[in-house]
Amino acid sequence: MTAQDGLPPLRDVIAAHGLNAVRALGQNFLLDLNLTGRIARAAGPLAGVTVIEVGPGPGGLTRALLAEGADKVIAVERDRRCIAALEEIAAHYPGRLQVIEGDALTTDMAALATGRVRIVANLPYNIATPLLIGWLRTEPWPPFYENMTLMFQREVAERIVATPADDAYGRLGVVCGWRTEAHILFDISPKAFTPPPKVTSSVVQMIPRPVPLPVDMAKLERVTAAAFGQRRKMLRQSLKSLGVDPLPLLAASGIPETARAEEIDVAGFVRLTDALG
Ligand code: SAM
Repeated sequence: MTAQDGLPPLRDVIAAHGLNAVRALGQNFLLDLNLTGRIARAAGPLAGVTVIEVGPGPGGLTRALLAEGADKVIAVERDRRCIAALEEIAAHYPGRLQVIEGDALTTDMAALATGRVRIVANLPYNIATPLLIGWLRTEPWPPFYENMTLMFQREVAERIVATPADDAYGRLGVVCGWRTEAHILFDISPKAFTPPPKVTSSVVQMIPRPVPLPVDMAKLERVTAAAFGQRRKMLRQSLKSLGVDPLPLLAASGIPETARAEEIDVAGFVRLTDALG
């Protein structure tokens, strides 16, 4: 039997290539092509777009992205065992799938494609946050990608989209909110994966802000690390770890001395970072 796209069902692909999941590589595969189709459509419309996908694995999401009309998919996969399976998809969609065997953490994604680029991935959970931070650090800004549609553990997704009103608000929410508009699109149950992870996953979409408030990201991260490092303390205490007197800093930023990190929005952190000089 073949799937709608004329390729074998993913279970057969996994069996044929011996792709038993490796935990160290964060391998939780999505085998339901309806679900991978839903993720691909969430990233769409894809005509005229080159998609960069991290961790295609056996290729479920890759196939959906191609079936949904992406001009091209460039897929970066670290697990050598998956490459032959992915090459079969490439042969089925001539000239539209480029498979790169490599580590996404050390691959220069900006150099992979020109034109309209989007990033779509069911990320390996163990490196999801460092990958995201790397994409947010892109210079110059606006970045090489139009948007990112990414799957994270629900708990990480909540931290990405969090604002001061939310319990999950912290360093990640500040940098994500500074450079992007981020939304949780939908959740995916552990049951949908093979093998099932312990927790629910969420698909997050992030759209780069064309003109984020001007600030140096490394400095902003230093300030948020200090502020949230002791998140229950008042900023007049927690910011001492920056090695400066927090009081003039807070005064110059128009922030009360008694405020706590979790009450300060992105604009407030940008003012604090500016005041640090
Ligand atoms: N996209 C597939 C799916 O949805 O079924 C697989 C997703 S699985 C959660 C994560 C994938 O990322 C695995 O295929 C794994 O081998 C790959 N991976 C893990 N670490 C990687 C790295 N550093 N660079 C590139 N790919 C990596």
